[in-house]
Amino acid sequence: MTRPSGAWPGLAYVDTKIERLSEQRGDHALMLKFAASKDARAVVVAHEMIVLKKTNTGHDALFEQDEARQLGTTSNPIFIGLHRQAPRFGFTLTAERIDPLKSRNDLHITDLRSIATQGLVPHEQLECIAIAKALHHWHARNRFCPNCGSTTEMSDAGWRRICPGCKAEHFSRTDPCVIMLPIDGERCLLARSHRFVPGMYSALAGFMEPGESMEDAVRRETQEESGLKIGRVRYYASQPWPFPHSLMIGCFAEALSSDLTLDKNEIEDGRWFSREEAATMLARKHEHGLITPPPSAIAHHLIRAYVERGADVLGD
Ligand SMILES: [Zn+2]
Repeated sequence: MTRPSGAWPGLAYVDTKIERLSEQRGDHALMLKFAASKDARAVVVAHEMIVLKKTNTGHDALFEQDEARQLGTTSNPIFIGLHRQAPRFGFTLTAERIDPLKSRNDLHITDLRSIATQGLVPHEQLECIAIAKALHHWHARNRFCPNCGSTTEMSDAGWRRICPGCKAEHFSRTDPCVIMLPIDGERCLLARSHRFVPGMYSALAGFMEPGESMEDAVRRETQEESGLKIGRVRYYASQPWPFPHSLMIGCFAEALSSDLTLDKNEIEDGRWFSREEAATMLARKHEHGLITPPPSAIAHHLIRAYVERGADVLGD
């Protein structure tokens, strides 16, 4: 059922070409060697914003390290990995450094959602930016040890924090989130949040809770948001979602009931859509201008797979 890597055209933040070298991040000499490489490049994260260079053909997220430092980045870069043997680092800017850069004609400072949906940088750079953004967010909010309250220190090239007080080690985190398309034969449930752009309808989503399986999270979240009872749950694909550091676990969910009771706190509107109607939304040809999320989001690929294959996506 699952397809090989790269089979979801346009899906953002997914690019298996990054070699993370997770076992070697503690090798200080190796990290210095990578930092000294003429091929090393850095992405620059400034809170929720990303700094891009303007080029003749568009934008580029990769800076030479000296260029990045001249922007006023802080020390302690994160080692992201190797991309085609070239080291990639994540640098960060403090909030007060951003404003002076906004007037520079050679730079474009924008948020990662815009970069992904507008295709501002080469697709293969998105994963690099996503890793840097997620890790910088984690560092910014874990400066103190949750065990003893001491100030923690970055370790392992940015993938761990260590407490000098109690020696506790703190690892970077990922928050799993289920995103599911409820299916009732020839129709699927799509809904919209008040945060969506006008006319956009998507799959349902929610965070997994401690001690909960992926399947149970799909059933619970679907019932809470729509009132539907769910039978079979079929995993499809996942997507790192660096807002701030989630993993979207994309699933199809078999509806065992059809009456909807929408959670109006979460959902502005939602209803059943036929495969034909969903197809017109994917194609941006819906008669009332309704649309699905763009191909950069896993929801687009869940809806596309269902439009193409119907309830067969639920498996046996
Ligand atoms: Zn501690």
